[in-house]
Amino acid sequence: MKSSGSFDVIIVGAGISGLYMLYRMRQLGLSTRVIEMASDLGGTWYWNRYPGARCDTDTMEYSYSFDEDLQQEWEWPERYPTQPEILEYLNHVADRFDLRPHISFDTRLEAAVYAEATNHWRLSTDGGAFSAQFLIMATGCLSAPNIPDIAGMDTFRGPIYHTARWPAEGLDLSGLRVGVIGTGSSGVQAIPVIARQAAHLTVFQRSPQWSIPARNQPVDPAYVAAVKSDYAGFRARNRLRPGADIASSPVNDFSAMSVSDEERGRIFEERWRQGGLSFYNSFNDIKLAPESNRAVADFVRAKIREIVKDPAVAEALCPDYTFGCKRGVIDSDYYETFNRANVRLVDINATPIHAITSNGIRAGNAEYDLDLIVLATGFDAMTGALLRIDIRGRKGLSLRDKWAAGPVNYLGLGVPGFPNLFTITGPGSPSVLANMMMTIEHHVEWLSDCIAFMVAEDKACIEATEAAQAAWVAHVNEVAADSLALTCHSWYLGANIPGKPRVFMPLPGFPPYVEKCNEVAANGYEGFLMS
Ligand code: FAD
Ligand code: NAP
Repeated sequence: MKSSGSFDVIIVGAGISGLYMLYRMRQLGLSTRVIEMASDLGGTWYWNRYPGARCDTDTMEYSYSFDEDLQQEWEWPERYPTQPEILEYLNHVADRFDLRPHISFDTRLEAAVYAEATNHWRLSTDGGAFSAQFLIMATGCLSAPNIPDIAGMDTFRGPIYHTARWPAEGLDLSGLRVGVIGTGSSGVQAIPVIARQAAHLTVFQRSPQWSIPARNQPVDPAYVAAVKSDYAGFRARNRLRPGADIASSPVNDFSAMSVSDEERGRIFEERWRQGGLSFYNSFNDIKLAPESNRAVADFVRAKIREIVKDPAVAEALCPDYTFGCKRGVIDSDYYETFNRANVRLVDINATPIHAITSNGIRAGNAEYDLDLIVLATGFDAMTGALLRIDIRGRKGLSLRDKWAAGPVNYLGLGVPGFPNLFTITGPGSPSVLANMMMTIEHHVEWLSDCIAFMVAEDKACIEATEAAQAAWVAHVNEVAADSLALTCHSWYLGANIPGKPRVFMPLPGFPPYVEKCNEVAANGYEGFLMS
């Protein structure tokens, strides 16, 4: 339903964040509308329908925790939920809590202007005009697709699909020669499945990937029963982890270098067999200490060489950059796929892509004939969705100008000069460095408490102060400075987008962040001005 009108609260985006925020605002009795550019709800899980798309957070952890009956009743079949299963779950949540009637689909927010005289945001969309006292951006950290600018793209005679814009009706790839550009999480999930369906697959790799076996399997009923016997306790333990996840798999709280070579190898093997992102918890310093990092990198490279039969292909698949400096990737048969006769790897560092032609892709001196091209090229992460909207705060201040040298804000939640505007999972918060179900719930609950406080105290306007912003940005930079994640090219740094400022955008460490947010609230929303 398209619509327009004036509301207490407008939420932009109907993904996991927007749906829960809507639920909380309706509980407060505020008139609320969600505007969503897609034709249906689900956000990430609506858009990313590429073959093999699934979550890499364990199912017992990637679901809302706010409603005990919901978490007790929902059943997940496997260790990692698939895209259709998560979409079904989110639709169930929307129906269960009667959220759907409050969402305007097919409505893209194009511009938002703060009107000082009325303390309202005026919104222009491709549907109608809206206004609201509070504007909550639930537009997603990984929702603005990165479409690379490759010469000749419009000359290709077949279709080109980005993984996050896959056709809803699906695609029959049988008999087709497919090219995939990109080997991040999306590419690594899609490549094995496409290889099984297509006649031939060519993978164009810019950076080789560190990937750990997912070891997907049916969920163990005994494990599910144990979690459900104290789901609240399980979630609470989860929230104490830096990544708010993997409550079932403890971090070995010692250095990789504090044990013998033999013991280190045994622990890596054990975690490799267990599979999933818990491999990163093999030791407490593999992402921090260069020597421990070299040890884990050597272990994974040895695995790649063991799995991939052609030594030249294996070498091309072996990364030489810091293990774990990009977002962790897990796979089902990724490296094994390169042993298939119908799969070819093209190292585009050695032989760069010059152009897309009518027949396929020209890289180095070769032309690869293709029927369909897949762009698994990721996202303009964390700031892309926000900056694609023309957002103007006090005195016409534009967010694009304010963030020209990189995003700055307070707690990842509010930006000075932009009163009553909040970002869920904004840059400067741990969002993408943790189980996002937990980071989203935390932001939504903090924001609803803040708005409830304002209603109770008869306050109409809230705005982060410049001083609070300056201290917060300094804090984020200081915490991130220790991270090996600064040492390589990744979307955390904006390095995947030509011309984007290189700033480490997320804040490592969920529990201390939650503590800080609690402290701010307990001190009467310190660092924000309310009037
Ligand atoms: P989104 O789901 O991105 O929703 C944002 C919504 O805002 C979208 O529906 C979009 O259409 C809408 N929107 C944006 N701009 C506008 C506009 N101008 N006007 C109107 N609507 C707009 N996280 C994990 O923790 N674990 C995982 O295993 C995991 N797997 C992932 C797999 C994939 C393929 C991707 C892309 C991300 C994954 N993530 C994972 C991160 C994931 O994005 C979050 O877990 C979560 O789904 C984000 O929810 P959200 O509601 O904040 O944002
Ligand atoms: P990504 O990690 O940014 O990977 C994009 C890939 O495309 C990289 O290999 C990149 O190479 C390559 N690339 C980008 N631009 C290119 C260009 N112009 N020419 C050639 N190659 C190019 O994106 P993603 O795989 O979509 O994943 C993004 C994030 O979404 C993940 O990190 C994760 O947070 C989330 N995600 C999660 C899951 C999951 O949990 N199951 C699945 C998918 C996505 P470089 O590395 O050299 O830049």
